[in-house]
Amino acid sequence: MARNVVTFHYTLRDPQGRLLDTSTGGDPITYLEGAGMIIEGLEEQLTGVSPGAKTRISVPAAKAYGLRDDSQVQRVLRALLPVEGELRVGDQFQIGDDRFSPTVTVAGIEGDDVLLDANHPLAGVDLTFDVELVASRTATDDELKHGHPHGASGTEGC
Ligand SMILES: [Zn+2]
Repeated sequence: MARNVVTFHYTLRDPQGRLLDTSTGGDPITYLEGAGMIIEGLEEQLTGVSPGAKTRISVPAAKAYGLRDDSQVQRVLRALLPVEGELRVGDQFQIGDDRFSPTVTVAGIEGDDVLLDANHPLAGVDLTFDVELVASRTATDDELKHGHPHGASGTEGC
């Protein structure tokens, strides 16, 4: 089956209708089907949407950023955290030095202890995407070989 390169704009909201993210005013997202570049539940429902169409796509948490895992919440001593200044519930920071280090969220502060939550901030959240499908075309041989799209047009470098 031919794989497509799909370009779309999106506005993402949580179940309370709060704006979480949007591509409006910026560049649309371009992805290669089957490359795992966007969340599974969104890609499933974008398949077959025609260019120019606007549609609302609901993705349950399990097919978005996953369900929450309580074992990902750990209690650590405040003094051991590499964070200067005051900590507040809801603060996020990276554990470790490189950009692939996990991001944790301060879930609670109890005396000298801090509860750190390593769940993705959107774990357990059902997502609603308002999508405008901008373009869809068959992937080129190079894109299939490389496993990523070469821009909306297919002519950009990698
Ligand atoms: Zn490439």
